[in-house]
Amino acid sequence: MPESENSTQIHKEELNDHIAALGYRQSRASLPGAGILAIFAAIICADFTHFQLADQSALLVWLAAMLSSYLLRYLLLLHLQNAPSRPRKIWLHLWTWSAWVGALGWGLLIYFFLPQEKSVHQICLLLIIAGIGAGSISSLSPFPILFRGYLLLLLSPLTLRFILLAQENWLYGLMAVTVVLFLFYILRSGNEVYAALASSITMGLENKKLVAQLEEAVEAANAANQQKSQFLANMSHEIRTPMNAIIGMTHLALEESSTPKQHHVLKTVQQSAQSLLGIINDILDFSKIEAGQLQLDPRPFTIMTLLTPLSEILTVSAQEKGLNFTLDLAPNLPAMVQGDDLRIHQILLNLAGNAIKFTSQGEVVLRVEPAVEQKESGKISLLFSVKDSGIGIAPDKLDSIFDTFEQGDNSYTRQFGGTGLGLAISKQLTSLMGGQLWAESIPGQGSTFHLILELERCEEASKTPAPPQLEASNAISRQLALLVVDDNEINRDVAAMMLEKDHLVQVASNGLEALQKISENTFDLVLMDVQMPVMDGLTATRLIREIEQGATPEAMLPAPLMTELSQRLSGGHLTIIAITAHATTQDQKLCLAAGMDAYLTKPIQPDKLNACLQTHTKPQ
Ligand code: ADP
Repeated sequence: MPESENSTQIHKEELNDHIAALGYRQSRASLPGAGILAIFAAIICADFTHFQLADQSALLVWLAAMLSSYLLRYLLLLHLQNAPSRPRKIWLHLWTWSAWVGALGWGLLIYFFLPQEKSVHQICLLLIIAGIGAGSISSLSPFPILFRGYLLLLLSPLTLRFILLAQENWLYGLMAVTVVLFLFYILRSGNEVYAALASSITMGLENKKLVAQLEEAVEAANAANQQKSQFLANMSHEIRTPMNAIIGMTHLALEESSTPKQHHVLKTVQQSAQSLLGIINDILDFSKIEAGQLQLDPRPFTIMTLLTPLSEILTVSAQEKGLNFTLDLAPNLPAMVQGDDLRIHQILLNLAGNAIKFTSQGEVVLRVEPAVEQKESGKISLLFSVKDSGIGIAPDKLDSIFDTFEQGDNSYTRQFGGTGLGLAISKQLTSLMGGQLWAESIPGQGSTFHLILELERCEEASKTPAPPQLEASNAISRQLALLVVDDNEINRDVAAMMLEKDHLVQVASNGLEALQKISENTFDLVLMDVQMPVMDGLTATRLIREIEQGATPEAMLPAPLMTELSQRLSGGHLTIIAITAHATTQDQKLCLAAGMDAYLTKPIQPDKLNACLQTHTKPQ
């Protein structure tokens, strides 16, 4: 049998268990009724026998026997229903035999007590028997053998009685035939009920198995997807270390390049490295979103601090292609709102970057205005529209371009390359922020991408401190004493070589080594990696801050080292900048919470590094 058939085949025993459970339920409901009918039947028989002592005694014995058998069956049912596993055969036999004894009891009663002359009594007794027989369809048909035996024992004595009576009155012959027909009718109905029960329970069980298989498959697919995303995240992280070297070393080589050709070659390497870094960041974002690990970092920001740097970048890119870039702001925009400005920046940069990429002449306009429909007070819906006069998008592609890896498939689009991840990431970020993103386009005339985001209004500057913003600035005027702490030799070299030209640089390969160096030298600033063996950057920073405040750190440090550190650090504040490859908000928060003054993400961008040194160096 093929495996798929095998897997969905319902085991017969399992089916029987389910049908039996239904039968037990029905029987439990009908047994008390049958007991009451037995009492009625005894009263009817006693009535037409004029309560003669012999008959009465026989009837009392019969009633006692019947009620005891019903009680026994009821107790048996409780046992069968509550049995934790499949009941032992003996109980099932007992269940069958006790039902048959009950049926025989009814049969004997009717055989010996059926009144011939009192028709009202006769009708009542026959009705009771018919009721008992019909009632067994629902309660006993789930047990086919028991059911057939039960009906035979119930109705055969009656049939026999009618046949015997037929010698006196032919009408009884007719009654005997009627009872036989009734017997067949009930048997047939019972069989049909059994077949219907079996097929619906089989279907139910098959469905349950299919649902379980489906759930397993979904779980397996999710696990595989998680693994893939984790792999992508790890891989992207690993790629950042060599990227750090490429970008850093190229920067150094560019500064020393002597010929225009050398300069051109190195500039190309630098640009390619930057665009590779953009792709890696996209993959990292995408894998984080897929793994459900991307968290938003809402904070108060002004619309202008979001849009001014964006507009500067886009103006330069547009000018390089001979295009006009316009930032069009509605007059009634709020000054300050709360949201994840870095992610909004990312989406807008992607939309406007695409607009410039896919436009060869004309203009690109970024308009920001309050959306028409404003929902809750205290919140504001902003509509960002990026309009271009470029190649446009075919109507059937307007939705699918937001799917992962999807690109418009005309050759003009392909000529521009790209990963097809930008819009998918933008769309996912938008949904995370509870917003909407969609596109309208006329092929050949241009496209407009609309983004609606609901942000919280902040009338006053928030008390939450914003993470330090690093503005590009000029080189620092004095020579600094710097300590670069990183367990990776390449990263250490890159940072050291970038800084050595203007500053005095020492290196350490973990937190403990850094503490050693700090105890021996006076530094203006420490660039501290986060994840390192022996002692990580967060621990080292916490220790430094505790010693500065005169506290005795919980972590054990050698006594001489502690003394040296206390002498050098007590009462002061050593500037510590985190250098982290993990660009997550959580990591950044951890760095600031540990007492670091700012953070830079790897690969180190020379401009940002210089800006950071400038911002965080105390004047002499
Ligand atoms: P990529 O640009 O890296 O290919 P995106 O996800 O950013 O990936 O864009 C997906 C596709 O959507 C693009 O390849 C392009 O076909 C289409 N597209 C996006 N923006 C525009 C636009 N402004 N004009 C024309 N086509 C666009």
